[in-house]
Amino acid sequence: MGMAELLKGAPVAAALNGKLAARVAGLAALGIKAGMCIVRVGARQDDLAYERGVIKRFGTIGIGCKIVELPIDIAQQSLIDEIKKINADDSIHGVMIFRPLPPQLDESVVKHVLDPKKDMDCLTPVNVAKVFEGDETGYPPCTPQAVMEMLDFYGVDLKGKRVTLVGRSMVVGKPLAMMLLKKHATITICHTRTVDLAKTCREAEILIAAAGKAKMIKADFVFPGQTVIDVGINVDEAGNLCGDVDQAGVENIVAALSPVPSGIGTVTTSILAQNVVQAAELSLK
Ligand code: NDP
Repeated sequence: MGMAELLKGAPVAAALNGKLAARVAGLAALGIKAGMCIVRVGARQDDLAYERGVIKRFGTIGIGCKIVELPIDIAQQSLIDEIKKINADDSIHGVMIFRPLPPQLDESVVKHVLDPKKDMDCLTPVNVAKVFEGDETGYPPCTPQAVMEMLDFYGVDLKGKRVTLVGRSMVVGKPLAMMLLKKHATITICHTRTVDLAKTCREAEILIAAAGKAKMIKADFVFPGQTVIDVGINVDEAGNLCGDVDQAGVENIVAALSPVPSGIGTVTTSILAQNVVQAAELSLK
């Protein structure tokens, strides 16, 4: 058996970035610089790493990125006031509020404050509803969008295919299920109470892992010919970045596999950029 085709994120991101450069130039001709704002409460390492990635990517595309750093113990009303200021700022077309928020902040309240037109990562109920309705005028979360973009880029047909998803969070699994359904896939959503997870995964033609458990998808979870997309970002026992898929264990079995690192994670900031450019374009209408 041969090795799986590696579905790398870089070519997917490069294709997206190329298309965005032209749109950014179009906006610039109208005197508009697409601009995003990151709202970060505290300074978690993974937030800072993501933020650095966004600033770098946006810099090369020509999108502005403002950082609003707020104290970890900020009161809820102060955060709400900050979000309202951003809502009213015409130079900011898109906003990403890093989650999870610290415990004194109630996401179920905060999520109603952000203007859905600026909501780049599907925090607001309006955008959540649009994903579930299949209404493409909203902004689904960036990670599921990155998965859809990768499948499309590598020509993975979804119509009528059996897709198994591991994970049912509101950030990845549930919205991704709806987006796959819109493309006419037949979806199975697995989670911690799923009985015989390995068998359910093996039965899929396309397997998508978004559980956040290092290397949990092993050789007995996969089947020859499968396409496997690994959304997980974890650290293994040696302290190295790894996905939910045991790459060494499955790459001799499956047909195609997205690696971690260099897979889906590489695409998400370009998706975010695409959302911001779209929001900037729509702000003209
Ligand atoms: P959550 O922890 O919110 O959700 C994990 C989901 O996986 C839950 O539905 C959980 O089930 C399920 N799950 C966990 N362990 C198992 C298991 N052993 N068997 C079956 N199901 C399991 O994580 P997120 O959805 O936020 O993120 C998932 C992964 O994706 C993480 O590794 C995260 O780091 C990564 N991620 C990557 C991004 C990227 O850009 N590449 C962006 C966002 C996240 P239950 O509901 O029953 O608890």
